[in-house]
Amino acid sequence: DNNITRHSFDVVVIGAGGAGLRAAIEARLAGKKTAIISKSLFGKAHTVMAEGGAAAAMGNVNSNDNWQVHYRDTIRGGKFLNNYRMAELHAKEAPDRIWELETYGALFDRTKDGKISQRNFGGHEYPRLAHVGDRTGLELIRTLQQKIVSLQQDDFREFGDYDARLAVFAETTITELILDDGKIAGAFGYRREDGEFLLFEAPAVILATGGVGKSFKVTSNSWEYTGDGHALAMRAGANLVNMEFLQFHPTGMVWPLSVKGLLVTESVRGDGGVLRNSEGKRFMFDYIPEVFKAQYATTEEEGDRWYTDPDNNKRPPELLPRDEVARAINSEVKAGRGTEHGGVFLDVSTRMKPEEIIKRLPSMHHQFKELADVDITKVPMEVGPTCHYVMGGVEVDPDSAESAVPGLFAAGEVSGGMHGSNRLGGNSLSDLLVFGKRAGEYAALHVDRLADARPVVSQEALDAAVAKALAPLVDDPSDGENPYTVQYELQDIMHSLVGIIRRAEELEDALVKIAEFKKRLANVRVGGGRKYNPGWHLAIDLHNMLLCSEAVAKAALERTESRGGHTRDDHGKMDPSWRKVNLVCSYADNGVALRRQPVPTMPHELLSLFERSELAKYLTDEEIAAFDSNGS
Ligand code: FAD
Repeated sequence: DNNITRHSFDVVVIGAGGAGLRAAIEARLAGKKTAIISKSLFGKAHTVMAEGGAAAAMGNVNSNDNWQVHYRDTIRGGKFLNNYRMAELHAKEAPDRIWELETYGALFDRTKDGKISQRNFGGHEYPRLAHVGDRTGLELIRTLQQKIVSLQQDDFREFGDYDARLAVFAETTITELILDDGKIAGAFGYRREDGEFLLFEAPAVILATGGVGKSFKVTSNSWEYTGDGHALAMRAGANLVNMEFLQFHPTGMVWPLSVKGLLVTESVRGDGGVLRNSEGKRFMFDYIPEVFKAQYATTEEEGDRWYTDPDNNKRPPELLPRDEVARAINSEVKAGRGTEHGGVFLDVSTRMKPEEIIKRLPSMHHQFKELADVDITKVPMEVGPTCHYVMGGVEVDPDSAESAVPGLFAAGEVSGGMHGSNRLGGNSLSDLLVFGKRAGEYAALHVDRLADARPVVSQEALDAAVAKALAPLVDDPSDGENPYTVQYELQDIMHSLVGIIRRAEELEDALVKIAEFKKRLANVRVGGGRKYNPGWHLAIDLHNMLLCSEAVAKAALERTESRGGHTRDDHGKMDPSWRKVNLVCSYADNGVALRRQPVPTMPHELLSLFERSELAKYLTDEEIAAFDSNGS
């Protein structure tokens, strides 16, 4: 039956990764009745899979580190396209957010003198990633869940009900946001197990749904990452920004086929692992781009010295930002210098003692042993690029994390702007803590400001949400399209036509195919009813996958330059005039409307954290002239 279970909350958080949990804790601490909803099991989210660590300029390992250096690295990594205010808040607040986790019960690895230890990572000038071996995300989620349980214990003591002000709805998928006169009024979805419909009435919704990687064939992302939050936001009237920028992590497993794309953490390189082609050459030295020449070693000897004496040597180019390393690997494989399975070699076996490898990289050792029968203490790994992270996401106000829709907030990977055209490793875990907290805080404030004037869910909106969810379900699906076929073909198209290297004709072709998929999607049919029916779930998710794919392809076609996670074969150079442009996607006519919008201008005091010579590599002549006159 179509009965709908109704719940009423102040704040509804969609997503139980780091951003969602941190946001929910903050909203609850502000006294708001808060729900956390997650599509998968509680505790299973990408955040758990994060291995390397969380970037925060605590200066524990190298006291030269501070927020200004972190800010500079983040902006460099994003090739100056980042929302400057988000990057500023992130660099300033990340250390407090990490520290606070220890007050919740986290325990990070320690330096000899008992401080939180920090490790090197690509694009970070100093050792900066707070970590717990290579299982940092697990500790982060464990700690946030522990904090949630402790808050629920408090509520039990006060109200006799654990869920009084903080309730968890796991294995529940939100399919629609409900508006009242343009403002958030609630969220609608179903329980995956039995297909029961649920309505969450709430004047504030925080999207914390993570990424879009499942639309690509080779990806480190798992099944949930169908871009739901991105699509929900667009359909509700919010904007997405930077959707052309996707991060292909340089090192995913390339075989066996069943785990192709599974991540090999960047810590392997941060801790001394090197990349070699089939001729045994450390090829990264051939791929240091002009803008990074000043910061990277040009010889193997210098690169190797850096691990023990970082103050007097430059870092090896294996630690360039991810977009550079991914492109270099792609080029080596294309040039015929790849491995048997179409990757390159990543070697720690000749660089560290076996005991050290097992201590520092326990998950990687286990992963290769179990899945590929490879002992990484003895032989190199084979690795290649894998679709990993979407820089693009919901356009938000940097301070409040609120979108263009009143009452709709976004934090973590689903939000956009913070990372510009490319995210540095480790900056995601810190991002989701900083902006998760802010989203929770400002969502609570939004509820306070509304007082009694809460938006209302209309029966009409609810009926429409139910009808849409039920549309693909039929008794006999034999005349319709199979959702798995459409998904498989979409992943194939996105991988081959909108992947790591792009060109106009291919992107145009992809958009034609996406339009065809949309027509086919209207005819997707699934039998078997609403009780645990993954085919039905996928039929619903496909709408989101297609909308996000269209946004990525449209923005990628429009941006006729190469920058960060967007590489155009036909426009190979970075163009300073494009640095001033954000591409913004909104929802129109069951599809994506694209427009150009200026990138917010970085104020002089932040610009002047950079050398003028470095700014000249990114800014237009007029901007440099303005910078000079401002400083005089
Ligand atoms: P996630 O942790 O992705 O959580 C999303 C949540 O939303 C899930 O609970 C999901 O079930 C839920 N959800 C989605 N759609 C719906 C819906 N429709 N209804 C209800 N719930 C929904 N970053 C780093 O900084 N350092 C690292 O070392 C690092 N390593 C990584 C390793 C791997 C293998 C991967 C995949 C990523 C890694 N990243 C790392 C990136 C980082 O983990 C993610 O970007 C980050 O965890 C995203 O967090 P989040 O809170 O935004 O969302």
